[in-house]
Amino acid sequence: MLPVISYSITNMSTLTTSFTTSASEFICPTCQKRYKKQGGLSRHLSIVKRYNISHSDLDKLPETNNEKFKSILVYLIHRKLTHGFKKGGHQLVSLACTEHQFFDIFKGYIHHHSNRNVYKCIFRGSAGYQILSEILNNPLWGRKFYDEEQQTYVVLFNDPPEHLKNNPLAIATRCATESIATHRRKSRYNPGEVIIEWKIKGEKDAKENYCEAGFIYIHFWVRQI
Ligand SMILES: [Zn+2]
Repeated sequence: MLPVISYSITNMSTLTTSFTTSASEFICPTCQKRYKKQGGLSRHLSIVKRYNISHSDLDKLPETNNEKFKSILVYLIHRKLTHGFKKGGHQLVSLACTEHQFFDIFKGYIHHHSNRNVYKCIFRGSAGYQILSEILNNPLWGRKFYDEEQQTYVVLFNDPPEHLKNNPLAIATRCATESIATHRRKSRYNPGEVIIEWKIKGEKDAKENYCEAGFIYIHFWVRQI
């Protein structure tokens, strides 16, 4: 049995298409943001599109290189899918990575880009899992098997509908059913989402010599069954 991260074909979608729910909401397939009107979602998608236009110094990298880099990401994520996460827990993978490399792999899915050159991708829900499978070229990127049918996996929840978001009962139910100790609002990283960021870390020595490196940060939540 593979609950939670199994998904139905009907929920699969690409960035450029969207799907509606029965309550006629318009949902971004990647970050699961919900909009009451088609126009709201269109605006969201056109902002996302703008973040994902390559600037001239970020030309395309060889596909063989990208494949290798994706394998590195999957390997590092798998190293965090250890035994013993019955209650679930927050995990972080970070590694040095050029802006060029980050952009070439995640372009199309960058949902925030600040002036300080910080990129951010947000993935939620089963559609988010599927999109990451396509980006990373590996449907098992977020799942590691152990003996006796046990597995540790990356948890991706669908967001609760907007009208239930601030409903304490709905929140309590959601927390209970998801059984993850949530530290919502205290952390920028919420259970059930995968946040992938890229930013620069720099330092100056006593003589003001500056050096810097770009880093990729992958925040996610794991659980074991
Ligand atoms: Zn979105």
